[in-house]
Amino acid sequence: MSEFPHVLPTYNRAPLSFERGEGSWAVAQDGTRYLDLGAGIAVNVLGHAHPELVATLTEQAQRIWHVSNLYHIPEQERLADLLVENSFADTVFFTNSGTEAAELAIKMARKYWDHQGQPDRFEILTFDGAFHGRSTGAIAAAGSEKMVAGFGPLMPGFCQLPWGDSEALAAAITDKTCAVMLEPIQGEGGIRPLGDAELRKIRQLCDETGTLLILDEVQCGMGRTGRLFAHEYAGIAPDIMMVAKGIGGGFPLGAVLATREAAAGMVAGTHGSTYGGNPLGCAVGAKVMEIVSDQAFLAEVNRKASLLRQKLEGLVATYPDIFEEVRGQGLMLGLKCKRPPGELVAAGYGQQILTVAAADNTLRLLPPLNITDEDIAEAVSRLDKAAASLNG
Ligand SMILES: *Cc1c(COP(=O)(O)O)cnc(C)c1O
Repeated sequence: MSEFPHVLPTYNRAPLSFERGEGSWAVAQDGTRYLDLGAGIAVNVLGHAHPELVATLTEQAQRIWHVSNLYHIPEQERLADLLVENSFADTVFFTNSGTEAAELAIKMARKYWDHQGQPDRFEILTFDGAFHGRSTGAIAAAGSEKMVAGFGPLMPGFCQLPWGDSEALAAAITDKTCAVMLEPIQGEGGIRPLGDAELRKIRQLCDETGTLLILDEVQCGMGRTGRLFAHEYAGIAPDIMMVAKGIGGGFPLGAVLATREAAAGMVAGTHGSTYGGNPLGCAVGAKVMEIVSDQAFLAEVNRKASLLRQKLEGLVATYPDIFEEVRGQGLMLGLKCKRPPGELVAAGYGQQILTVAAADNTLRLLPPLNITDEDIAEAVSRLDKAAASLNG
């Protein structure tokens, strides 16, 4: 009888393991170098082993790692200052992941209405294809069959609408509606951008009805789209926003940003976390924020994004039987495929390039934001070979 896997087998893992990394390259145990266009699923925004992040982490590790939120944490306050200075938000709560950020966003929105004396306004409207994490709340929010099957009964108070359909949204908002929650660009859902005009329309509907707007920028935030946060393109601001993935550059860290109005119900004792916002994570997060929020850095992200996108358009033209289109913004790009994207991911391994599959037949390219022009050219050449190997 074979032994049961000591690691719970909930993942379909590729037969690869990595020992170290450098910039946009991950080095496997046998020494093979892979060009990393997955970046740990949009996490390693500054690539692997970024010298300033390594120095910051090491320096902090030698001082103090963890103290708990029973005390003031200067590193946490510094990262909160940076986030508030660079966003719509007045206040920040730190978590260890995107899922925990989604949990708090849901709790905060419900608490807001309770605090207003309207506890019956608890329903949160979300969209098909959404992904907000794997907690019981987050799966109820996204509602996809794949994530919820067998985990019922689900937390009540969520309703899913067709993606980006502001008319359906207008019809769905009632005196029970608490908030609308969405990703400006769906990540797991297949790099599906909402569009600036639609986002403005949703903001307006929220304003007209008092509904809170919660944006999930866990994947599209932290410079990924070429702006610090994706919603900036639409010229609107949310009431509550979740951030994670890129914010720690690889250190597990997440945050909920909110306006003072939206956060009004969250007084002492209403929420907490043992690890959330610990000195080690926040020291690294503050360094990531310093680098990524810089306008010159974001301009470079946009320049690189145009370069990559232009080359990917060429790839779509070369392989019309494999690819349908390029979509996304900045360095959050998707190649919509005419075959299961897993085939391209696997063909990519054969060319030593790492990519990530998503729903809606989409291959995701989420390189480090500081990828070099040379590595962009190399990546597209490897994707070309991977596509050619499928046609062969
Ligand atoms: C990854 C992701 C999450 C969940 O984050 P975890 O850190 O895996 O808990 C939530 N929302 C979006 C949009 C994500 O991409």
